[in-house]
Amino acid sequence: MSSRFYEYVAAEIEAIEAQGLWKPERIISSPQGATVTLAGRAATSINLCANNYLGLASDQRVIDAAVNATRRWGAGLASVRFICGTQEIHRELEASIAAYLGFEDAIIFAAAFDANGGLFEPLLGEADAIISDSLNHASIIDGIRLCKAKRLRFATGNMEELEQRLREARDDGARTVLIATDGVFSMDGAIADLAAITTLAKRYEALVMVDDCHATGLLGTKGRGTAAYREVEGRVDIITGTFGKALGGAMGGFIAARRDVVALLRQRARPYLFSNALAPSVCGASLAAIEIARSDEGDILRDRLFANTRRFRAGMEKAGFDLLPGEHPIIPVMLHDAARAQAFAAALLEAGIFVTGFSFPVVPKGLARIRTQMSAAHSPQQIDRAIEAFALTAKQLEAAR
Ligand SMILES: *Cc1c(COP(=O)(O)O)cnc(C)c1O
Repeated sequence: MSSRFYEYVAAEIEAIEAQGLWKPERIISSPQGATVTLAGRAATSINLCANNYLGLASDQRVIDAAVNATRRWGAGLASVRFICGTQEIHRELEASIAAYLGFEDAIIFAAAFDANGGLFEPLLGEADAIISDSLNHASIIDGIRLCKAKRLRFATGNMEELEQRLREARDDGARTVLIATDGVFSMDGAIADLAAITTLAKRYEALVMVDDCHATGLLGTKGRGTAAYREVEGRVDIITGTFGKALGGAMGGFIAARRDVVALLRQRARPYLFSNALAPSVCGASLAAIEIARSDEGDILRDRLFANTRRFRAGMEKAGFDLLPGEHPIIPVMLHDAARAQAFAAALLEAGIFVTGFSFPVVPKGLARIRTQMSAAHSPQQIDRAIEAFALTAKQLEAAR
């Protein structure tokens, strides 16, 4: 009947496998944490690939908050927000994230992917222009595609090119110009130069949108994100972010902006209008995580996170590894060759270190890597064990050549 279609699907799968690009999913048989138990393995593995920056994913208080919210508010809403899906806890979460980040209001989505997917189309039209960093997250790229505004791109972090695009947009008579950038670029751990970007934005009267998924909760004063880290808070117009990383790791995304912008998004953002309200458990967990992140205890967690980051960097450099420079707890270990990155990750797993190799098309050809991510939950001993395992694995692979 549709045999041609199913043949096509099978051929695509084969092609992905033949190129060595198939992404298997490892099954974990424990909660997320500094160490995890991988299904079929007796020993635990030190986990260096979660976005669990503050270690809150299995924090007992966050778990309890999720359970208590379920008991108080139920399993779910069976409704979108505007029909009968808005409980007090949804508004509480929106108020909490807005207050934390210093914005008038916020709107929550099922995922940051949806926040980015729904952000642009309601706010900008044919008369406007969006200038996007070339390494922006897939969800920003998709969101911009769904919007009728003119699209311009600048090479990642290239401020001369950004200025050129701003000039082009202005010469072209664009009504509103919006610069869209990741706060932290997830494959490199590079932190956007928001000081330069907001200065250019001011000069050309452009708005600035920052996707702070890898920054909210961990970067800058009280973990308020990239703008805080670059000391330009108040100069960013729109922040998008996730509850699925540092802020507990459950799921859910948000947009923080001025009150009117949020109000318009509630009326028009399609992933908000046509998708179920967040489960109360997710709201409860995220509220508890924000509370911890913005507290003095959050400072202790961030101190631990960045101490681990410096410890791993220093140890790995001493062991002779090629790391991308930076300060973020994303630390890419460059192995360049895709096959070598895969072999290295597999050997590390045998040594009790859980990491993932990244190669083309996720990163450019010849720039294959193992992306490690530190957590406040790691002990210094675990960091040292990970460094030793990396060094030993390098020796073993070298000897096997
Ligand atoms: C993880 C991530 C997202 C998606 O977040 P979800 O809440 O998991 O959908 C979007 N943008 C960036 C930059 C991310 O790192």
